[in-house]
Amino acid sequence: MLKTGLVTDPAMRLHHTGAGHPEQPARLSAVMDRLELLGLRDVLIDISPRKATEDEIALAHERSYISLVTAEVRQHRAELSTGDTIISEHSLDAALLGAGCALAAIDQVFSGAVNNAFCVVRPPGHHASAARGMGFCLFNNIAVAARYARTKFGAERVAIADWDVHHGNGTQDIFYEDGGVLFFSTHQSPWYPWTGAATETGEGRGAGLTVNRPLRAGAGRAEIMDAFRHALLPKLADFRPDLLLISAGFDSRMNDPLGQFALSDSDFGDLTLLLLEAADRYCGGRVVSTLEGGYSLSGLASASAAHVRALAQIL
Ligand SMILES: [Zn+2]
Repeated sequence: MLKTGLVTDPAMRLHHTGAGHPEQPARLSAVMDRLELLGLRDVLIDISPRKATEDEIALAHERSYISLVTAEVRQHRAELSTGDTIISEHSLDAALLGAGCALAAIDQVFSGAVNNAFCVVRPPGHHASAARGMGFCLFNNIAVAARYARTKFGAERVAIADWDVHHGNGTQDIFYEDGGVLFFSTHQSPWYPWTGAATETGEGRGAGLTVNRPLRAGAGRAEIMDAFRHALLPKLADFRPDLLLISAGFDSRMNDPLGQFALSDSDFGDLTLLLLEAADRYCGGRVVSTLEGGYSLSGLASASAAHVRALAQIL
């Protein structure tokens, strides 16, 4: 068994999105209740949550955008002006906690207190680019975490694997010319946010470090495992990351209301094991996973549990 950390904060439930919105507060309790029910809470190491500071958010976002989010929440706007993202009174605090939880997990993984960690956070992050929130995302939690690992722990090469059914356009944008971050994504195509073609491969120092595997509706274990094995693993062998991050969106699970992929709970377990094995090979097993999408409450709960079991190697 591995030491797996868990970080969350019930205050992220105060990011209200309105009745009937799929990115709802109950997502957090669905995950946490299932982990508790299965006895997994007891084997996970609690990591204390915290809010990210403005300087930390600015590792991945423009200051003017951070000011815009702050102002629009304070003005009680119903929706972020940059994209389809509902905001309400506590949304800024929740977004700062979402990113901060990922930073707290990075700290614990690099200190060696845990081998890996899962961040049960909302709002999700991977659609937010440096100057634009959209797709239910305010700040890009995983992008902030990648830059923080570089700044604080000298992680020069960070790999991000994104298995959410939607393309992580924000993460791709932020690191498109970076050179220090490998971004890999499997996603439904054509589908929101309409980016993520295989021809988008990075530019400048980032050339070749964006790897997209767009897949048709209905894709499942065969296609997605194949992409991870044959497109991601060889890239990781060249890149040799110091840290591996997972944009863990469970809307790629079968029967999700916002996607049409067909992964099962055990497929998420197998994808996790594949990534852990790669992380063992290149970076001492250091893996931090952050929740992105997943909109069937029961599917989100069972897939998250399978993911956590695999992270902790409770098989
Ligand atoms: Zn998604």
